[in-house]
Amino acid sequence: MRTSDYIIATLKETPSDAEVISHQLMLRAGMIRKLASGLYTWLPSGLKVVRKVERVVREELEKAGAIEMLMPVVQPADLWEESGRWQEYGPELLRIKDRHDRDFALGPTHEEVITEFVRKEISSYKQLPLNLYQIQTKFRDEVRPRFGVMRSREFIMKDAYSFHMTKECLQETYDRMHKAYCNIFERLGLDYRPVLADTGSIGGDASHEFHVLADSGEDAIVFSTESDYAANVEKAEALALKDTADAPTIEMTKVDTPNAKTIAALVEGYDVAIENTVKTLVVKATEESDAEFIALIIRGDHELNEIKAENLPEVAEPLTMATEEEIKAVMGAGPGSLGPVNCPIPVIVDRTAAVTSDFAAGANEEGKHFFGINWGRDVELGQVADLRNVVEGDPSPCGKGTLVIKRGIEVGHIFQLGNKYSQAMNAGVLTESGKHQVLEMGCYGIGVTRIVAAAIEQNHDKFGIKWPSALAPFQVAIVPMNMHKSHRIPAIAEGVYNKLQEAGIEVLFDDRKERPGVMFNDMELIGIPHQIVIGERNLDNNQIEYKNRHTGEKQLLDIDDALEFIL
Ligand code: ATP
Ligand code: MG
Ligand code: MG
Ligand code: MG
Repeated sequence: MRTSDYIIATLKETPSDAEVISHQLMLRAGMIRKLASGLYTWLPSGLKVVRKVERVVREELEKAGAIEMLMPVVQPADLWEESGRWQEYGPELLRIKDRHDRDFALGPTHEEVITEFVRKEISSYKQLPLNLYQIQTKFRDEVRPRFGVMRSREFIMKDAYSFHMTKECLQETYDRMHKAYCNIFERLGLDYRPVLADTGSIGGDASHEFHVLADSGEDAIVFSTESDYAANVEKAEALALKDTADAPTIEMTKVDTPNAKTIAALVEGYDVAIENTVKTLVVKATEESDAEFIALIIRGDHELNEIKAENLPEVAEPLTMATEEEIKAVMGAGPGSLGPVNCPIPVIVDRTAAVTSDFAAGANEEGKHFFGINWGRDVELGQVADLRNVVEGDPSPCGKGTLVIKRGIEVGHIFQLGNKYSQAMNAGVLTESGKHQVLEMGCYGIGVTRIVAAAIEQNHDKFGIKWPSALAPFQVAIVPMNMHKSHRIPAIAEGVYNKLQEAGIEVLFDDRKERPGVMFNDMELIGIPHQIVIGERNLDNNQIEYKNRHTGEKQLLDIDDALEFIL
């Protein structure tokens, strides 16, 4: 491709309405343009990257035995009435009417449509199992579209749906899809983590999300440093809050004082009282208490300078106020503060904002007692979760390692739906003995366009994007310096270009009449992994310069060896 035939829509300035780096760089590198809120046009080099993601997704899904089809974006309301989601789904579902006043929706997902297809087409157990997928535009009227294509209203998703006679068969396909997802994210060169996800209102038996680790991620995920345990925060919390005999729910007491908006103590068998002066907080074990640890959350500005403890168990260390540094180390400079008291809790957080806004977790010194605090939802009291349960029942058992919290971008989500849709929509087949049986179902989503943004969050520097080679729109850039003033350069550049083209390499030949600096900046910004710079001075020695976008290394190559080096 020659730049003279192409659109190099690069921008020098960072657009002011782009908050996260991937959004900024996608605009600056000329990959996308905004049409309206949450609606983006993909320019040629952006689209090239989307196609690369799709290719890897297709290859790995086909390997896993899934087969591709394509369903309509517009879906009749009747099907959503049948599943019950016409009422349930809320305003994210964009509802439209046709000229006959019939109700339709723009598909945010396709469970209803695929179930309708399967109930009509599949009638016998002999035709199962079946795993069908599509790569297609989805529409969700997101309440807060933001971060460019990361949370847009129109986006491309790969969605797959599998159908089975038994739960065991569903589990097999689910495991195969889990593996396929790992292969996909590995091939795309992403630092990712599969985590347990909450099946929430949909019910069902299992669900995993795949998160690309990035500070800008909207989700928090929790994982152990030493075991395989990993979950998203909702799941961790749901597990933790499950009331089991050996893990009592931690209660939380709230006290308001004139100069500390909220003092909430996570207390296992402790009372909290403000004594005489608001500058002293007394934490007192209740009579039946055999608690081993407590922690205090102190929100807002306060003038407390002492915390007193009474009736503490003998093992306990004296209570101490967390110092400002300690609080900052744990909580950052956010609106709340966590004062680990009594147990010196090594809370590991990767991004303090994540913790101040919604979640904190910690363990005591031996790493035995995990606890988590979620105060994102109910600022007054927060939610307290004893995360001891989180690791319970996991083959890497309770007490291993330390919980780490990181931000993640959800790029994939797989789900064992069981018979939620097949039951509601009566999708079943005849069994071997001729009985009608409702199908087991799984669904598997990947955010194709979100992956493009997520990859940039992980691969960039101050000059621009650093594409992993699996995603780069072009592998090689040819940058001839002042070609139009030279006799030798055009011939050499054309020669290199043709040879690379013949070898099937995606190469961008910058034949614009631009200053070399402009060309270099553009190629860095767009993020092409390999660059060949052709200039008069090096040609005197029969040499051209090679530059690696990832390492920044430059080296001179003899023209005759250059192609071999690059190929
Ligand atoms: P989120 O929690 O980010 O809103 P979701 O859980 O609603 O995502 P799913 O229903 O699980 O999304 O859809 C499958 C995948 O589609 C997600 O894992 C994500 O990668 C992608 N996706 C969902 N919503 C969007 C969006 N608004 N823009 C871009 N990609 C999206
Ligand atoms: Mg969503
Ligand atoms: Mg989600
Ligand atoms: Mg999801």
